[in-house]
Amino acid sequence: MAVERTFSIIKPDATERNLTGGVNAVIEKAGLRIIAQKRIQMTRKQAETFYAVHSARPFFGELVDFMISAPVVVQVLEGENAIAKYRDVMGATDPSKAAEGTIRKLFAKSIGENSVHGSDAAETARIEIAQFFSGNEIAG
Ligand code: ATP
Ligand code: MG
Repeated sequence: MAVERTFSIIKPDATERNLTGGVNAVIEKAGLRIIAQKRIQMTRKQAETFYAVHSARPFFGELVDFMISAPVVVQVLEGENAIAKYRDVMGATDPSKAAEGTIRKLFAKSIGENSVHGSDAAETARIEIAQFFSGNEIAG
């Protein structure tokens, strides 16, 4: 297994409930290192670009409105097999289907307001990291 980097977002439902530290504790307990992190207010354009793959889905408008409804924390996580590992740590998209101990089981409110994002593949991880971080903001 190789050391990988993945992109994470702590979403508005979590930042609003002061859960940044709670989410980060689960990430670090799983052995992933937070090698870049910043709290930002996403613009509508940034959110539309980020979730462009879902632009034809019926929930797209709702998803973009949600992502700009409050600040988010964008992160780069590093570790062995980080992309798949973080997907496991996050849990299923729908928190009612998420496994015990996962971030979404612990914290998510609904399938839409589900507390975290994580990249789904190496190529998307690269693209997503580059959308929000310049190289000198990442210290691994
Ligand atoms: P993410 O890409 O945010 O990590 P995911 O990969 O688990 O989540 P996707 O299928 O990529 O799930 O959906 C992206 C996001 O769109 C979900 O995390 C959720 O916030 C929202 N979403 C997905 N399905 C629905 C739905 N049926 N209703 C409302 N929002 C949804
Ligand atoms: Mg996804």
